[in-house]
Amino acid sequence: MKYSSKHIGGKYLKLLYKGKAKNVYEIDEETVLIEFRDDITAMDGKKKSELKGKGELNAKISAKLFEVIEKRGIETHYIKFEEPNKIYAKKVEIVPVEVICRNIATGSLVRRYPFKDGTELKKPIVEFCLKSDEFHDPMINEDIAEALGIANGEELKKMKEITLKVNDVLKRFLIERGIILVDFKLEFGRFNNKLLVADEISPDTCRFWDAETREVMDKDRFRKDMGSVLEYYKEVARRVL
Ligand code: 5GP
Repeated sequence: MKYSSKHIGGKYLKLLYKGKAKNVYEIDEETVLIEFRDDITAMDGKKKSELKGKGELNAKISAKLFEVIEKRGIETHYIKFEEPNKIYAKKVEIVPVEVICRNIATGSLVRRYPFKDGTELKKPIVEFCLKSDEFHDPMINEDIAEALGIANGEELKKMKEITLKVNDVLKRFLIERGIILVDFKLEFGRFNNKLLVADEISPDTCRFWDAETREVMDKDRFRKDMGSVLEYYKEVARRVL
């Protein structure tokens, strides 16, 4: 067996990409199988650990949230869930831009700008960042994205529009389940001349707070050594699934 392949469901699949928490295997020219691993990282990959069962929880939560937004007419790379920790997805060309959407000021926003931590924003803030651990995901604008040749102005505009729609849909879905969608990060992929929401939507990529207690239910528990990371991911899954 080659290092870059894996025996899954009776077949050897080629490993196309190994990220910090996911492996992407090739199914055919248009399809991939994404495996959510138990690895958890922070600080541009410098802080690392493994949480047994996290991959399964994130795959399930992501699958559900992709289904929720697809139902509301938002196109994503998601095809179907595969037990216990995988999803089939369209083979997209990932745009190396992280689109961040915020409803409450916290995290890097309050470290960089004079917002008071925990204040609700009158309208959502959308930021574009370059996906680059080496450069610590710096914020970019249309001119920088175009000059780097990674996306054009029209694509950024479309990504912002889709992100705000995802925010509306998920905010509503989650609050009904006692979860505040504080902020989140999306990635997009190009597929047949369209931009699809790609990657994952999970407690690794979103900030989720309990609506009653404002308890942190996401990766900030790992980033800030708050403990009980998996327990809170399980609680998110229990409420969302
Ligand atoms: P912040 O900029 O405050 O650190 O993050 C804003 C939101 O985007 C948070 O929900 C955070 O989880 C998500 N986010 C931003 N950058 C990254 C990243 O590089 N990886 C992951 N997994 N999430 C990110």
